[in-house]
Amino acid sequence: PQPVLAVVGRPNVGKSTLVNRLLGRREAVVQDQPGVTRDRVSYDALWNGRRFTVVDTGGWEPDAKGLQASVASQAEMAMRTADAVLLVVDGKVGATGTEEAVARVLRRSKCPVLLVANKVDDQRGAGDIHDLWSLGLGEPMPMSGLHGRGSGDVLDRVLEAL
Ligand code: GDP
Ligand code: MG
Repeated sequence: PQPVLAVVGRPNVGKSTLVNRLLGRREAVVQDQPGVTRDRVSYDALWNGRRFTVVDTGGWEPDAKGLQASVASQAEMAMRTADAVLLVVDGKVGATGTEEAVARVLRRSKCPVLLVANKVDDQRGAGDIHDLWSLGLGEPMPMSGLHGRGSGDVLDRVLEAL
């Protein structure tokens, strides 16, 4: 079986857009309205000749327990079932209480965790992401799921982690 990368994060941070970018094709459902249930969340990806599975946890929204608990349980599930976890943060917004709660869960994880600051569409947006070091998950990687900026670097790091 191929290794599995789980993509977690709050609704609307751009998980599905980023997953599409990592796949190199438009397949994961992107919604302006967060919290829409999708039935298909697993995709085959190929980078540098290596195959892996990408799981877009957006399919697990919504949840009655509230946003913070719901994203935290996404992360718990991801840790149990994936070989690496990619936490997506909206680089324009920064870390909210939800990211802090999720990071607390992920820091206990034995599987590798990668931190991506998404929506960094240009150099101007790259300056603010240093604050994300405070999550204790290592270096935040800037990326734009929308335009593709930084996606090759993220994919390289994903392969190292898997
Ligand atoms: P998800 O709920 O985390 O899966 O987020 P989506 O992928 O559905 O995206 C939510 C919204 O953010 C959509 O309107 C996207 O077009 C927008 N978005 C996603 N990625 C980017 C990005 O890299 N840059 C910008 N500017 N907008 C983005
Ligand atoms: Mg989504």
